Amino acid sequence: MIPYGKQEITQQDIDGVVEVLQSDFLTQGPKVPEFEQALVEKTGAKYALAVNSATSALHIACLALGLGENDWLWTTPITFVASANCGLYCGARVDFVDIDSATYNMCPKKLEAKLVLAKANGTLPKIVVPVHLCGQPCDMQAISKLSKQYGFKVIEDASHAIGGKYRDQPIGSCEFSDITVFSFHPVKIITTAEGGAVVTNDKELAEKMALLRSHGITRDLDKMQGESHGGWYYQQIALGFNYRMTELQAALGVTQIKRLEAFIEARHRLANRYNELLQSLPLVLPYQLENTYSGLHLYVIRLKLNEINLSHSEVFDSLRNQGVGVNIHYIPVHTQPYYKAMGFTDGDFVESEKYYSDAISLPMFHTMTTEQQDTVVSVLTEILSR
Ligand SMILES: *Cc1c(COP(=O)(O)O)cnc(C)c1O
Repeated sequence: MIPYGKQEITQQDIDGVVEVLQSDFLTQGPKVPEFEQALVEKTGAKYALAVNSATSALHIACLALGLGENDWLWTTPITFVASANCGLYCGARVDFVDIDSATYNMCPKKLEAKLVLAKANGTLPKIVVPVHLCGQPCDMQAISKLSKQYGFKVIEDASHAIGGKYRDQPIGSCEFSDITVFSFHPVKIITTAEGGAVVTNDKELAEKMALLRSHGITRDLDKMQGESHGGWYYQQIALGFNYRMTELQAALGVTQIKRLEAFIEARHRLANRYNELLQSLPLVLPYQLENTYSGLHLYVIRLKLNEINLSHSEVFDSLRNQGVGVNIHYIPVHTQPYYKAMGFTDGDFVESEKYYSDAISLPMFHTMTTEQQDTVVSVLTEILSR
């Protein structure tokens, strides 16, 4: 089976991890700060904190921005459930903004229309989480403008987008957001096995998230109440978690991030080749928003179902049966039973549901060979001609 995504582990990665295993620190040593420094350099953000997943990153980002009961968090239905669940972790309520039909990202016009209504109802969101689906940056300028107008905070879920650019700024620069979150799960662009990060330009937010990552405990005298009891002393000043990344994971991050540009270039070569080879098939191929450079985590095609004889699931199953490990990103979050129990129903977000009815993610990963890609193209071409 040709997988839809796959990590690349080289001898350099293995050597880095083995070196940590032979060192004094398996956790809380020098590798995590080294990885964080590399994230600062790649993104241009002032502060980076590595954590054990993007899910944890989203959670502490929401808490640092003060999300709580009676607040609203809005995101897109076409995302992994974690982009929405982070709101629920904080006791907030979650709602969605439908996608744009060309980019499949949160539509700024629909966001604005929803904000106008929410303002009238007194239900404006505290946080909006745009997701750079497939690595394609959202229209951040428009979202940022609305955030100032309506007073909400912005967390970019850039789990798909490290290495991409928006208006010549690296994704993660946080020029148009408060915090940006990354995932380093093995299917994503670079990996630390499990892992994630938050980046921000705001010192206060960075300090809050650092506390939340590690039990709410500080050893900083300036942050303590009263006097230190001695060299062993620490104080818990917030309710935090253990969301730390290990040294083994950070070592992997340090060597992986060195190859980030090469990974993204390889993905662009593959995507360009797909664009050429698939152009005459009954498909909608990915659209690229101007002034953006995608991280290209995913290559999503849309089936023109009225021009073919098979259904969406028949095309999907036929591809899988012939060794093409396609996937679907994503099942609209509001249609998940857990969200339906909160009152969402089919038909709430029409464009997202339409996308779900005909989208397929084709295999794409930086070590994919030309032969593998040719196999995907020929199998798909044959299936669509049935
Ligand atoms: C993968 C992913 C997450 C969660 O990442 P983890 O590191 O697995 O917690 C969140 N949001 C999006 C859009 C993702 O693709």
